[in-house]
Amino acid sequence: MYYGFDVGGTKIEFGAFNAQLERVATERVPTPTEDYEKLVTTLSELVKKYDQQFATKGTVGLGLPGMEDADTGKVLTVNVPAAKGKPLKSDLEALIDRPVKIENDANCFALSEAWDESLQSSPSVLGLILGTGFGGGLVIGGEVFSGRNNVAGELGHQRLPIDAWFLLGDSGQAPLFSCGCDKQGCLDNYLSGRGFEQLYQHYYQTPRKAIDIIADYQQGENNAIEFVDKFMELLATCLGSMLTAIDPHVVVLGGGLSNFDLIYEELPKRLPKYLLSVAKAPKFVKAKHGDSGGVRGAAFLNIHQG
Ligand SMILES: [Zn+2]
Repeated sequence: MYYGFDVGGTKIEFGAFNAQLERVATERVPTPTEDYEKLVTTLSELVKKYDQQFATKGTVGLGLPGMEDADTGKVLTVNVPAAKGKPLKSDLEALIDRPVKIENDANCFALSEAWDESLQSSPSVLGLILGTGFGGGLVIGGEVFSGRNNVAGELGHQRLPIDAWFLLGDSGQAPLFSCGCDKQGCLDNYLSGRGFEQLYQHYYQTPRKAIDIIADYQQGENNAIEFVDKFMELLATCLGSMLTAIDPHVVVLGGGLSNFDLIYEELPKRLPKYLLSVAKAPKFVKAKHGDSGGVRGAAFLNIHQG
């Protein structure tokens, strides 16, 4: 049995998955916001409860908005204050007497999709979230690749490529948005739903929700058509840089903007000019597991291929 926790700022979701990767239990509890002891106990009690229910000792994976410091094992997060700076993995392991794996939620999203039946045979899968923010995760051979510092896949903090700089500036100055990481020009603020809205406001001086801009586009409104065209090109140039570095077999898109079906038509047409001439664009697919991706991916941290 594979247990997964998706630890968010307000709630913890638990899921148990059987050997066929089917979900056989779900439970949601509020996240203890400031009390670390209570957070660790809440997690361990759930593990013990389901061990008893299934008469087994399940494996445990945990996804959260943040990451572990690769050297100290302390959790780096702003959204789950109770866990901030704490050695959550070792403390939980001591209470439940088994290894615990922790990954950030974008990596869990990518892993969840990579283990979907349709993608299990893909040697590598890049998951990209076009949501409130923009982020990613890389899965190779069915396992998350997290790198030396657990920052592999943090594509939201790549800065704009030079082609994007010219594209966004037209003949003037490109907008330089600030990022939560203290840098400027991170893709997180351009390719996300928030970025989509910020860019629109920059060009047309009108605040407009992404969903309304897309509705305008579908009704043939001129500004929206011009803007969507620019955004699709922006997406192609940014993804072109990533794909040249990573060269994944499949790219899975999740988050609110991934429901904009035009993306799947436009990327294959626009990408080739940003790739090396020997490279073909990968297959682009829409995420299938939506909101349950976090807990699935966390549980699947303990699956190994073959
Ligand atoms: Zn950044």
